[in-house]
Amino acid sequence: MANIFEEDKKYIANTYARFPVAFVSGSGSVLTGEDGKRYIDLGSGIGVSSFGFADREWTEAVTKQASVLQHTSNLYYTSPCVSLAKALCEKTGMKKVFFGNSGAEANECAIKAARKYSAEKKGGDCFTIVTLINSFHGRTLTTLAATGQDVFHKQFLPLTPGFLHVAADDREGLCRTVEENKIAGIMIECVQGEGGVVPISREFADTVQRLAAENDIPLIVDEVQTGNGRTGSMYSYMQYGLTPDIVSTAKGLGGGLPIGAALLGDKVADVFTYGDHGSTFGGNPVCCAGALSVVNRLDEKLFSEVREKGRYIKEALEGADGVEGVSGMGLMIGVKTVKAAKAVVDGCLKRGVLCLTAKDKVRLLPALNIPADVLAEAVETLKAVCAEV
Ligand SMILES: *Cc1c(COP(=O)(O)O)cnc(C)c1O
Repeated sequence: MANIFEEDKKYIANTYARFPVAFVSGSGSVLTGEDGKRYIDLGSGIGVSSFGFADREWTEAVTKQASVLQHTSNLYYTSPCVSLAKALCEKTGMKKVFFGNSGAEANECAIKAARKYSAEKKGGDCFTIVTLINSFHGRTLTTLAATGQDVFHKQFLPLTPGFLHVAADDREGLCRTVEENKIAGIMIECVQGEGGVVPISREFADTVQRLAAENDIPLIVDEVQTGNGRTGSMYSYMQYGLTPDIVSTAKGLGGGLPIGAALLGDKVADVFTYGDHGSTFGGNPVCCAGALSVVNRLDEKLFSEVREKGRYIKEALEGADGVEGVSGMGLMIGVKTVKAAKAVVDGCLKRGVLCLTAKDKVRLLPALNIPADVLAEAVETLKAVCAEV
């Protein structure tokens, strides 16, 4: 084990402060460490492994596709890619899909679609995208520019120009920004994930929708983390009654393989023409087969289970010793703890439970199908760690 830690430190770029544990296998919501220790996973690889580890349906879909055709490039047609796009459109009412390989790429496509639409409609000087302070949209230089958190910007300037940030829930600020500038798009997360699991208010969502509609501004909802059942509906914007023009998603969509998608609504469905955008790996048949098996299981029965488990976690933690508050929707939960979030996560890891942090909160993103008894065991551990002085 010392070996893997040392060699990782020697050969892997210094971008990740990893926890001192290496995993070898998993089943459902339980992982096995190299030391043979059992861990309950409340993080899903940051909301990626939607149905846990070694899920039978997902594994079958992926291995079956890998054994017949793993890649063709986008020069040719393949069936998993179009089947997935069709399923996503049918579940959302969106009209066309562009596939990339990550959340950042989904957002890059969303931004390009909004810019091209607005430039054609309103002129080449209409390129500015409004996003929210405390948002997170990715690590490429353009999605960093979209990200409204300065900590991620330092050292990497200049970023792509053409982004303005307003505070979430600042309705007046948003109105003023839209009035005073030529705006090509408004981009929001309904629940700011990396920002600390903070849902926007209903009133603010209404204002965003109204401004976008009145001014013919494409509305982009970033559902990279909130999407694909995570918050207890197909996408979180549905619970806010929003009708976005572009939806970006990734993370949980692939169930564990890299895939990102930009879903394009009526307004922008035909904004791109040949050569405008592309991705060598985008729409990869293996990733799409896995994602299709995930999307086919996202139904109202699962969503109500997700909401129910989310309620269970909130009720168990609200008012518990060492817990100051609980936020979030469905199985996307932030816990404000008296102790530093990192100390709580470290304590849980020692006791065999994996949690995440988001800013100053402990963040929970368990598999959508985590069994109730496994969840209860992990929540008890988390409660005990929060209560320890
Ligand atoms: C994780 C995340 C991204 C970036 O996704 P990557 O796959 O890491 O590029 C973008 N937006 C939101 C809301 C995210 O949570």
